[in-house]
Amino acid sequence: MRNLKKQDKEIYQATMGELKRQQEGMELIASENYVSEAVLEALGSVFTNKYSEGYPGRRYYGGQKYTDAVESLAISRAKKLFGAEHVNVQPLSGAPANMIAYMATLSPGDKVLGMDLSHGGHLTHGHPVTLAAQIYKFERYKTKADGLVDYEELEKMAKEFQPKLILAGFSAYTRQLDYAKFASIAKKVGAITMIDVAHIAGLIAGKVIPSPVPYFDIVTTTTHKTLRGPRGGMIMCKRKYASAIDKAAFPGFQGGPHENNIAAKAVAFGEALKPDFKKYARQILKNAKVLEKELRKYNFKIMFGGTDNHMLLVDVFSSKGVTGKEAEKALDEVGITLNKNVIPDDPRGPMDPSGIRVGVPAVTTRGMKEKEMKKIAGWINQTLENSHDKKTLQKIKKEVMIFCKSFPIYSSIK
Ligand SMILES: *Cc1c(COP(=O)(O)O)cnc(C)c1O
Repeated sequence: MRNLKKQDKEIYQATMGELKRQQEGMELIASENYVSEAVLEALGSVFTNKYSEGYPGRRYYGGQKYTDAVESLAISRAKKLFGAEHVNVQPLSGAPANMIAYMATLSPGDKVLGMDLSHGGHLTHGHPVTLAAQIYKFERYKTKADGLVDYEELEKMAKEFQPKLILAGFSAYTRQLDYAKFASIAKKVGAITMIDVAHIAGLIAGKVIPSPVPYFDIVTTTTHKTLRGPRGGMIMCKRKYASAIDKAAFPGFQGGPHENNIAAKAVAFGEALKPDFKKYARQILKNAKVLEKELRKYNFKIMFGGTDNHMLLVDVFSSKGVTGKEAEKALDEVGITLNKNVIPDDPRGPMDPSGIRVGVPAVTTRGMKEKEMKKIAGWINQTLENSHDKKTLQKIKKEVMIFCKSFPIYSSIK
């Protein structure tokens, strides 16, 4: 980054600080990852200069020879990776991707049945603070005590509520969804089906969990979580919805696509098509399972009955007497980064909830395996049992930093 270093000391220093933080810290935020240096290069490329409103072969401005080439490659690689009939790679991120999908399938006032936020759903699935909730009517289904989605209740609600769209997908739910059941319930009430796989796209691409693509009309995702690409969104759909999705993305909801981002998406999809990515995805599942087992040994209460994916929702309040907020803060002090999270029907509320969410995609990218998960579980336990003991926290912090340095990332960036 020699130009940045010379020209803008403040931004350069902040960037190097962030690099160091990422190199020395233990990243357990379930939605984060480390992209390859090739992805970083594509993101920082001259494509950021180009306006390319429209789609490959039908743009509003000239000079599209190379933007058409990268966007077409991103689309064809995504189709191959997920077996989708149609792909739009222009959504700027996950939240816009969902707004575009709503716009393509719904009219203002239409009804949507989605997953309850405290049971693992996402803000963009109808939380009252969002624009989507002002435009459409959302109703929420929940999980049962055993941690699985209550499909009987879902069917009953669908019949009563008569939604235009049934929405699956989550940001803190840890179990495998029954895609066929969603499809059959939707069919009974004549609803369109949509799933938001923002969190699990990498596991689907790596073919270590079942793919929802054959079952759902619309599939939205981010590209920067388990999929390990640049920060961005993507929509896959059945041919029937292709033109509605493309029109909703542009000119409906967005302006010019970010072609530097799309180039980086293409690079990430290229990586995900390689055999190594399958190995990575498999290791994520193994690591999450070991972490679950180890945390159980330390008497942590694991929500939803365990994990089938890359993350765990842990009730730290009932297991260790610390709140989610306190746990997040204490772990931050020792260099372990994760987030507080509500548990189903959380009695404590969202600002200081009962739980934490723990994810392994980033540490798995760094090369950590089963053995390392055991160490991480030990540190989490030690930290939460000694959250007021500064000396112990200092000691753990040192251990975590030395440990992380032995799994180097971005060593060539200066
Ligand atoms: C992360 C996430 C999003 C939002 O993605 P952004 O890129 O932050 O806009 C949407 N849906 C789900 C399920 C997510 O996990």
